[in-house]
Amino acid sequence: MAKGPYTTVRGQVLRVRRGLRRRRLEWTRGRRELVPRQFRNLVDYHIHTKLCGHAVGEPGDYVREAIRKGLPEIGFSDHMPLLRIRDRHLTMEPDQLSHYVSIVDELRHSDGGITVRLGIEMDYFPDQMDEIWAAAQGIEFDYVYGAVHYIDGWGFGDSRRLSSYQGRDPDETYERYFDLFCRAAREGGFDIMAHPDLVKKHGIVTSVPIDDMYETAARALRDAGVAIEINTSGLRMRAAEPYPSLPFLKICARHGVAVTLGSDAHAPHQVGMDFDIALRMLEQAGISEIATFQRRQRIMRGI
Ligand SMILES: [Zn+2]
Ligand SMILES: [Zn+2]
Repeated sequence: MAKGPYTTVRGQVLRVRRGLRRRRLEWTRGRRELVPRQFRNLVDYHIHTKLCGHAVGEPGDYVREAIRKGLPEIGFSDHMPLLRIRDRHLTMEPDQLSHYVSIVDELRHSDGGITVRLGIEMDYFPDQMDEIWAAAQGIEFDYVYGAVHYIDGWGFGDSRRLSSYQGRDPDETYERYFDLFCRAAREGGFDIMAHPDLVKKHGIVTSVPIDDMYETAARALRDAGVAIEINTSGLRMRAAEPYPSLPFLKICARHGVAVTLGSDAHAPHQVGMDFDIALRMLEQAGISEIATFQRRQRIMRGI
């Protein structure tokens, strides 16, 4: 593919569509929901609540779905309030954070034969981290996800504003994304980096190989002792594969980066979704244990 700015988002998407269709087929051929026996050592740590304004269902419905599927442990990780962007379709309001904690707390303590963890998905903004952490002070999270959803104020992951890609160079977008990702891993204070190559969400690809970006990112994660997740929601997007890609996951595995699992559920039926594909990826990357967290202590569990 020729290097240069996107002519139009639509043109770019059309050009990569064939490749993505093939990729999706590769992953989804023979996909089937895992049976409870296969779920018994897994976790789903990336679950939202309707407080974020773009998820549906009651928090208890997510827990019931996890029990039905046979997951022994899940965690909620709703979007931390954005301090300088007010958009009720993106995150809860700052004053709802304590309500979120109490909802999860209640589910944590109701004995349904499942472990429920309290997590959060925190955006990485290089110049706001002190403020963001201050807003979370005093809350005993089991884990904190770091996420890069913004590149210099541009919400590139926002599906409502695809036209914002127009006039941007995909290669530069990737470079800037991975640059921020590495800084987030090193300086953000997070336990897990969410959807590690989210930059591919809308099917945008680079004109150059990106193995060196993967390599640099894996080193940053390893040095900082930060885990990643296999986030299966990429299969539901134009990216047509989980985050991270299999090559990226293999590089992380080679560097000993710990891996956990998340569906990024925004609806109850999405809990544990496509975990058969996540398991296949773990196997292909030679990973035999996943990271779990309790009060921000990492505990590895064989799968
Ligand atoms: Zn969300
Ligand atoms: Zn996210």
